[in-house]
Parts: sequence; structure tokens; C-alpha cells
Amino acid sequence: MDFCARPDLIPVETALSLMQQALDPILESETVSLLDSLDRVLTAPLYSNINVPSADNSAMDGYAFKLTDDLSTLQIVGDSLAGHPYAGEIRSGECVRITTGGIVPKGADTVIMQEQVERNGNVIRINVRPHLGENIRRAGEDSAKGSMVLSQGHRITPIDIGLIASLGITEVQVYRRLKVALLSTGDELTPLGKPIEDGKIYDSNRYTLNALLQRLHVETIDLGLQPDTPEIIKKSFTQAMKIADVVISTGGVSVGDADFTKDVLAELGNIYFWKVAIKPGKPFAFGKIGNCWFFGLPGNPVSAAITYHQLVLPSLRYLSGEIFNSAPKLNAITQQKFSKQPGRADYQRGILTSENDTNYVASTGVQGSGVLTSLAKANCFIVLEQERGKVEKDEIVKILPFDKFIL
Ligand code: AMP
Ligand code: MG
Repeated sequence: MDFCARPDLIPVETALSLMQQALDPILESETVSLLDSLDRVLTAPLYSNINVPSADNSAMDGYAFKLTDDLSTLQIVGDSLAGHPYAGEIRSGECVRITTGGIVPKGADTVIMQEQVERNGNVIRINVRPHLGENIRRAGEDSAKGSMVLSQGHRITPIDIGLIASLGITEVQVYRRLKVALLSTGDELTPLGKPIEDGKIYDSNRYTLNALLQRLHVETIDLGLQPDTPEIIKKSFTQAMKIADVVISTGGVSVGDADFTKDVLAELGNIYFWKVAIKPGKPFAFGKIGNCWFFGLPGNPVSAAITYHQLVLPSLRYLSGEIFNSAPKLNAITQQKFSKQPGRADYQRGILTSENDTNYVASTGVQGSGVLTSLAKANCFIVLEQERGKVEKDEIVKILPFDKFIL
């Protein structure tokens, strides 16, 4: 990695790949109990030590028998209920009553639904001739013994928790959680709980980011609200680099008189770049202080949330050891005009609707980078490519529906 900071405006994709080249995923692991493994990342592939299901069993409530030419009547010789198999073997002309999940007895190869037979005492008559093997779930058809069920680098979802439980596994090995320190900078910021004075605003970014980081299941270290004083910002960063893997700050990365974050970072470590061709969010600094990665987000609340989602989140997922694909974009037809200047990729806030399987998108209204309600009302980003100009009504645009990391 070239340690010289790039002063130019770099495309989003370049920023992402430069960060990925620089970042080293964490290697330390720990063993956690199954329920504690939600949202954690597997250090190794997970294999099944058993067949799931363990034996051929019935997918329906019905009768199990051997398929022969003459199925006119079958004699019921016993039951195979879920958890209570039929001990014997059945012969041609015989059947057992079977419930869903009941083991298919020896000698049987087909199950017929009970709705498709007529029963008279201990004899059934089959109305619809079944196919060989019908309604039988095969041993190992879900997870075969010895097969890989989840791959290394996979982030565990609620469904995976059930899947791992189905294998009888109670503990899993995962990478340790990332430690992420967080601070806001700005003399105009007021902590919650204090009355607001004219010209001041409440510090909302730290709350947005804290909540977004909770969704990623990292360990968050809140370094609070800091004034635009280089010595104090320096102290916070020095503290952060000792205790955290990553520090995220908001505010002070632009070129205003009070924008010291970047200078302090340059003094303590290395800046790789600080301008990305993204709107909102052009000032975005990436660097390293000691062994701690640094992401400096712009102060405007929409810019902070969007640069987090587009640039920081993929980096944190990568650092956590996760192997993942970026979320697919969809096409949608615009329901109105959108203003746009070539030069930066624009993430406008949209409302996606669908009618007759066609996607339509409208703006959430005023798109200022300080207008947090524009993002709160949205259910997607309208991603307008870097070199694209203004967009007319009825044009096709790319949209990125929100995922759980931002909702
Ligand atoms: P800056 O990036 O420091 O130049 O800030 C840009 C704009 O974002 C200014 O209007 C700030 O008041 C606002 N801002 C900065 N930090 C925060 C924050 N933590 N919460 C809400 N707004 C902020
Ligand atoms: Mg500021």
C-alpha cells in the first residue's frame, strides 16, 4: 500500500478497493455457545457429523408400503409414528400407518397421503396410483454426513442458528468482535439532556453510528463529544489507538478553519485519502494510527450515515473476517426528475414502490446533506453514477434497497 495520501477525488469503487488492500482482517478467535453466535463470523467451515434427517421418513400423514402392480387393497399391519418406528419388515400387500417424520419401515418404498385412500377397518384401498418413492424424505437430503454446511467467513444469521442446531452442534468458533471507538467533533454540538442554544445543534451522529454498529455486533467504545480543539482531538485519538481496532469520528474532515481531524491524524499516523467522489460525503478520510484503522466521516448527518453505509460498513465487515458479496442493485423507473451534476456518485434518498412487477422510485423530497428526515423517510438509495447528469422522469436508474444495516 502506498502510504502517500491521495489528495484527489477518488471514485467510490477505488476507495473501497484501496481500503480492502490496506486492511488486515482480524485473526483471533473464540468459542461461543450457539445462541451467542448470531451475527458472528465463522473462522472455519462447518461440517455435518450426521445425516439430517437421520433416516428416510415420511413427508405426509398416510400409509407406507411397497409399490407393486397390484395395489387394489393393502392390509394395515402396524404404525410408524414420528419418534416411534415400526419394528418389523412389511411384505407386498401390507402397509403401515405413518405420520409426518415417521421412519419408512423396512420393505416399504412409497408413502401415500391419507387423503388419497379409503380405509375400511384394517384395509385400505388406493384411489390414485402413486409414483415410486413418493412422499419420502431421504436420509441426509438436508445435510449429508461429512458435507460442508457453512463456509469459513460466513456471518451467522438466525436461520443458520437453527441449521447448526439441526446438526446437534452447541458451540462454534468465531472471530473475536471488532472493537470500534466512536467520537463526534464540533464546537456547535450539544449533548442530549442539555437545553439547546441558538446556533447549536444536538449531536445526532454518535447516536446514529452507535445504533448502526449495534446492528453489526461489534464492541463499541463511545469516546463522546469533543470540541474543535486539536489538542483534545489528539488526546482522544491517542486513547482510541490503544484500546480499539478502529476509530470512527464525525466532523472536522473538510477544509474549514475548524477542521482539525485530518491534521491530527496526519500527525499521529498516516492518511491514505480524504476525498471521495460521493455525494453526499465528499470529505471522508481513511488512515491508520498505530495499529488502529481510522475512518473520518463528514459531520453532516446524512453524509455521515451514507459514507458509513457505503464505505465504512464494507470495511468493518471485511476486517471482521467476513466473506460477502455486495448487495445487488435493482432497476427502477423514475417518477420525477432528479437534479445531478457529473463528477460524484450520488446516493439520493428514494421511496421504492412496485406495481405489476415493475419498480418505481420517487424522491423523499429535499435532499440536503443535513436533512436527516430525507433518509428516515427513504426505503432505498437512488444510486446515480459518477458521470451521469440530470435524470428525467421515466428514465431507468439503479436503486439499492436498504438492508438491516441501515433500517
Ligand atoms: P463538519 O463536517 O464538521 O464541517 O460539519 C458539517 C455539518 O455537520 C455542520 O453543519 C455541523 O454542525 C454538522 N454536524 C457535525 N457533527 C454533527 C453531529 N455529531 N451531529 C449532528 N450534526 C453534526
Ligand atoms: Mg465541524
